[in-house]
Amino acid sequence: MNLGSYVILIFIIFPFICSFYNESLKEPLFKELEKIFDNYLINNDNKMNLLLKSKKDKDLSDEQKCSYCTNIFENVNKYFLSKNNDYQYIYNFGKMVCSYIYDSDSCISIINEYGPIVMKNFVELLNNTNRFCSILNLCKNQQNDNNFENWAENLLKNKPSKKRENINFNKNNIYNMIQITDIHYDPKYLEGADTKCKQPLCCREKNNKETIKSGKYGFCGNCDINDNLINSAFDSISQLNPDFIIWTGDMGPHDLWDSSQENIYNITKYLLNLYDKKLGKIPLFPILGNHEKFPNDEFTLVEDSTLLQTFADIYKPYLDEEAYQSFSKYGYYSQKYLNTNLRIIGLNCLICDTFNFNLLNDKTLPKQQFDWLENILISAEKNNEFVYILDHIPINANFYLSECAKRMQVLLDRFEYIIRGYFSGHTHFDDIAIVTTYKDKIPNIINYIAPALTTFPSIYPSYRNYIIDKQTMQIFNYEQYRLNVTQANIDNQANWYISHNANNFFNVNDMTEVNKLYEYVVGNDYMIKRYADAPKGYELSKKEKIVKEAQCTIKEFSYENWMKCSHPSFDLDQSQLFNILNKLGGYWE
Ligand SMILES: [Zn+2]
Ligand SMILES: [Zn+2]
Repeated sequence: MNLGSYVILIFIIFPFICSFYNESLKEPLFKELEKIFDNYLINNDNKMNLLLKSKKDKDLSDEQKCSYCTNIFENVNKYFLSKNNDYQYIYNFGKMVCSYIYDSDSCISIINEYGPIVMKNFVELLNNTNRFCSILNLCKNQQNDNNFENWAENLLKNKPSKKRENINFNKNNIYNMIQITDIHYDPKYLEGADTKCKQPLCCREKNNKETIKSGKYGFCGNCDINDNLINSAFDSISQLNPDFIIWTGDMGPHDLWDSSQENIYNITKYLLNLYDKKLGKIPLFPILGNHEKFPNDEFTLVEDSTLLQTFADIYKPYLDEEAYQSFSKYGYYSQKYLNTNLRIIGLNCLICDTFNFNLLNDKTLPKQQFDWLENILISAEKNNEFVYILDHIPINANFYLSECAKRMQVLLDRFEYIIRGYFSGHTHFDDIAIVTTYKDKIPNIINYIAPALTTFPSIYPSYRNYIIDKQTMQIFNYEQYRLNVTQANIDNQANWYISHNANNFFNVNDMTEVNKLYEYVVGNDYMIKRYADAPKGYELSKKEKIVKEAQCTIKEFSYENWMKCSHPSFDLDQSQLFNILNKLGGYWE
């Protein structure tokens, strides 16, 4: 991104933060900002123009860029310091904006949960003007980039020069691995309830007579799922008799205004109980999703020790002692699948979560997880093990920090010969992403992004069945299972079906043909197919946007690059706000 764009970002970040203030405060604040820009930029040799035109970046020395930036933010800070104890203004304004979309009760509780965390971290970040300006690339932070480059170079120097073996596919020598993700079970789901409402989540109350009513097996819309749907999914999975199951996070409903950490624990216990009943003792590899934390995403290692301990205890029947200990301290672990040479690594997604405001100032947390991951991969390589990585948030999603993505790319490159699968969920959509090698940008590892079991926000519930070669642990194919909820409600029974299998869908013989797959998905034939398979119940314009973004999802492995691909012009929407947060988060020293 060029310098001009960064300056525009500054203009967006501040109105964004300021917009938390109420109307009467907004005006003096903008006046203040204007004064600041007047003093430091516009009247000062027309340097604002210089800053806005990237081709003239070279006209400004690095020192000049840095001092303009720090001057601006020191002044902005003075303003914030004089106000920062007065959170009430911020809350009131936030509530006002929120209440255009949702009812005021939902708004009040959501803002009361997030307000203090957001403000504490923004104030702390803004106090460190030098760091802030180096994030915006206006001051140099040589240290950080050098550290990363040196690390990457050293690690890749020792990459073994091997060729990946071909799969000699033998139907009798396979594992079936099921991925269940984003269940979002709503215990308050009510059959015959309103499917449109003023809360973030519907299908819970019977009020308004005009709306379409929720069904016995759920509703494709802003609704999460009920017992009937989950039972039918587990029954359908049980018929496939899978060897093991990965469970990639997000258990509770989208009911932020009406939830608590205790609720989320109870829902997870309930679901695991159901799992025990329906799927017996099939080995299970669970990880945390961003919805496992209340309020969602806002995790710190210190404050959330009880959370980690509680989830480790819930999942204990499926974890070995070492995995249990690690999960209970950090939320990540690794464990072998029975006595095979397959090691499954479960990561803690909250550690690279863009929407975790605590990461704006946390210098150690993401690095700690990546150091651990690197060590696990080194020892797996020594012990001739193959590895699957589970991480709730996919590498290129708007919630995954680009700083984390670039480190993950290096690790996937270095250990490509032992990493046999990389699985995520979180987006709720049916996707894959292809991660390239670090230097040569050759398509390398597939990030399997499985669609959700929930119907939220207007999708058919899904789970995946991966077909794995026992010998090499390579993914041969996967079958995408779906339920047409609308039909199930009409038929009064749930018929799960295979909507497609990956080999046909991506036009390959097996999923190790990454180059061939890449060539196919960037072409037109695939896009037509993808369009036909886009989420049901979406209006046309939204569908087109999703298909366009899907192509970028496959091609681009970091959010920063995904943004450039899917939003070539700078339009201000939700994705841009994520882009700004993404720039600010993930503190690596
Ligand atoms: Zn989810
Ligand atoms: Zn999620």
